[in-house]
Amino acid sequence: MIELEAQGQRLLLDCGLPLDGDANDEAVLPPVPGFSEPDPSLLGVVISHGHRDHWGLLGRALAGLPIFLGAATERILNTSAFFIRDLPAIAAAGHLADGQPLCIGPFTITPHLVDHSAFDAYALTIEAGGRRLFYSGDIRSHGRKGALFEKLVSRPPQGIDVMLMEGSSLGRLDEDARFPTETEIETALTDVFGRTPGMALVAASAQNIDRVVSIFRAAKRSGRTLVVDLYAAEMLHATGRDSIPQTSWPEVALFTPWHQRVKVKKAGRFDLIERHKSGRLYPEDLAAHPERYVLLFRASLLDDLVKAGCLSGAHAIWSQWAGYLKDEKTAALLAMLKAHGVGFEIVHTSGHASIPDLKRLAAAISPRALVPIDVAPKFYPASRSFWRLDLALSAG
Ligand SMILES: [Zn+2]
Repeated sequence: MIELEAQGQRLLLDCGLPLDGDANDEAVLPPVPGFSEPDPSLLGVVISHGHRDHWGLLGRALAGLPIFLGAATERILNTSAFFIRDLPAIAAAGHLADGQPLCIGPFTITPHLVDHSAFDAYALTIEAGGRRLFYSGDIRSHGRKGALFEKLVSRPPQGIDVMLMEGSSLGRLDEDARFPTETEIETALTDVFGRTPGMALVAASAQNIDRVVSIFRAAKRSGRTLVVDLYAAEMLHATGRDSIPQTSWPEVALFTPWHQRVKVKKAGRFDLIERHKSGRLYPEDLAAHPERYVLLFRASLLDDLVKAGCLSGAHAIWSQWAGYLKDEKTAALLAMLKAHGVGFEIVHTSGHASIPDLKRLAAAISPRALVPIDVAPKFYPASRSFWRLDLALSAG
């Protein structure tokens, strides 16, 4: 959470929950007047993108605190609220859109659409009181929208006083290490699908749209249909883009596991299934020809697959952060896959910029002050959770 102040008014950039944090824990809530209790000098919160470590404290925000975020991010979060607990309904006070300035009190915000593993992610240039701040949000160059990173480097915002730069790779990665591109991930997946005799199960986040596109393209190159559950089908639908794989496409199919059918029935939300029914598959379809399918997989689908008897010759691919593999739940899932004779490997790339790319971005923006944020905890003294940086730079 970043708190900006100008002319006695304040604005928040993001209000994230640490990935291992509990939103109900008092210790995770920064002491920001107006966030949880009324204070009219707080004008609202701008959410750069839809990752929980950037919006996870929204549930703790005062009802009615204005929220600004991308329109697709709002749709994705509100759609996922049906499936995921503890997600507040969001009614945006305004939307971020690439290159379109947004005025909030004394702050003028210009969003820059960026390449990141979250869809509809923005970096922000913010002007107030004659000073300019650039916030990178989460950013990378090696995804499917890498051209946006190169555009930012070749035509950077000018006259930036302060740059708040994501530093996810800082302290966690070698200085010159680079990440595979999303296109290389697609090629690696195509290779795995080609040597898998049964169903390919790809464990990836359905909100990582770049990755879902890579999986779809690799499935198509392998002559397979991409199968998604109702949650993933709804995430793809919420992007609002016909150019993103949708269940209405002939190469994409819906498989609704038992627990989602029960959820839909209890809530009377049959409309959700209705709009994806054109390519609906049933357990017997998967069992008859498992070699025809690539399934966007998660643990909650395993029971249905076992009951369907479609795991013969199957292979699982972990296509998300390898850190999750240390979780107890994930370890249990891997053990179950192994017990069913399902092979396993990792095919993944980071959602964050490498250190050489961060250096290129910082050099291009050339701010008067550069502040890395989200860096490895070893850079912080253990005694402090929150920082106040007085960056009131005088002219000249
Ligand atoms: Zn992110």
